[in-house]
Amino acid sequence: MATPPPVVAYVALGSNLGDRHGHLAAAFAALEKLPGTRLLARSGLYETAPVGPPGQQDYLNAAAELSTTLEPLELLDHLLSIEQTRGRIRRERWGPRTLDLDLLLHGDRRVSDPRLTLPHPAMLTRAFVLAPLCELSPALLLDGATLAARLESLDRSGVRRIAS
Ligand code: ATP
Ligand code: CA
Ligand code: CA
Repeated sequence: MATPPPVVAYVALGSNLGDRHGHLAAAFAALEKLPGTRLLARSGLYETAPVGPPGQQDYLNAAAELSTTLEPLELLDHLLSIEQTRGRIRRERWGPRTLDLDLLLHGDRRVSDPRLTLPHPAMLTRAFVLAPLCELSPALLLDGATLAARLESLDRSGVRRIAS
């Protein structure tokens, strides 16, 4: 079968357990090595107040722009296995985690699979996702509005850019 043309995909990275900088650096390095994939750009790092059960550390968040020939579910499987290499254990929902990799967008694909929803359903309501993503693609249009305009309308008080 012929290789499909590459599409641009966006991944959100987050860590709030253990060596947060190390986990994100390892994730970027692993994304760079995925088959059929190039890491086109990475955002700066953001420190953000956690969502979910109380008593958690702040998150370190970032976003990655990829060019990939992987299908959405194939890319998801790679993301989940990168999480595993950093010791991700799923306990309570939205509980602390060494590494969380969410697939935000895969070209203009819309997916409703039990394992994968695209675009990521919460991406437009989370400043900790949109702030790094807007560094990579502020003019991207989703459902009639740019990502930059969507970010403008969110409360960004808990989201601080800390490094490039
Ligand atoms: P949220 O998705 O609200 O950010 P979470 O990242 O904490 O929550 P996880 O426990 O990491 O949720 O993931 C649970 C499941 O979500 C994954 O096993 C995966 O199958 C599914 N999932 C659905 N859509 C996506 C997506 N776009 N990106 C990543 N995982 C997804
Ligand atoms: Ca998530
Ligand atoms: Ca996730």
